[in-house]
Amino acid sequence: MTLCRIEPISFETPKGEPDLRILIVEDEPTLGTQLKSTLEQNGYAVDLSVDGEDGHFLGSTEDYDAVVLDLGLPEIDGLTVLGMWRKENRNFPVLVLTARDSWSDKVAGLDAGADDYLAKPFQTEELIARLRALIRRASGNTSSELTAGPVRLDTRSGRVTLAGEPVKLTAQEYKLLSYLMHHKGKVVSRTELIEHIYDQDFDRDSNTIEVFVTRIRKKLGADVITTIRGLGYSLDDPAEPTRS
Ligand code: CA
Repeated sequence: MTLCRIEPISFETPKGEPDLRILIVEDEPTLGTQLKSTLEQNGYAVDLSVDGEDGHFLGSTEDYDAVVLDLGLPEIDGLTVLGMWRKENRNFPVLVLTARDSWSDKVAGLDAGADDYLAKPFQTEELIARLRALIRRASGNTSSELTAGPVRLDTRSGRVTLAGEPVKLTAQEYKLLSYLMHHKGKVVSRTELIEHIYDQDFDRDSNTIEVFVTRIRKKLGADVITTIRGLGYSLDDPAEPTRS
């Protein structure tokens, strides 16, 4: 068994990293728990699964923005899980964890539909950087900065500005705004927001979303997020300059 060394990360500035929802499927308890907590400290909502059967189920039924998948798993091995997801058209980016120097694992992982791989042991910083890149690529953004009219959001620093002026958002407001900005121009339902922004333990009352949207509008302008009656919300580049 390969043990992984987890490097401690120092947080000099409050990070509001991507914010999105990640599934980790890893049977080694220490590694799984440490990864979960590090990703959570970086602003992600994280579910941890410790075997292939449960991991496959979560990936098939919940919506994730990215998955970290160990290959050596009890019940169903990682490669099989990945193949099953791809057959079910689950297209989230998957980063596969391979045993050290296992060249055949890497090839097999990529063949089965993995988007990236990382050999154990690895630096947590590298895992986070790769996840960030995968999520950006999957949402069609190549820069760490997302914009919508006068609103700019930097996924690396977690900073949000309105017409160049810094705006303070709470962690939950940031998560919601970031998700909408990653899906600019699309209608996003409340259910989708709840599923992507919060982990399984969160109070999933959909009124909570409405409260966050109202607060974001107060801070960034009433027309930054459009309510699509009966469908959800959308965030677009305004045709004219936004007035708040
Ligand atoms: Ca394993």
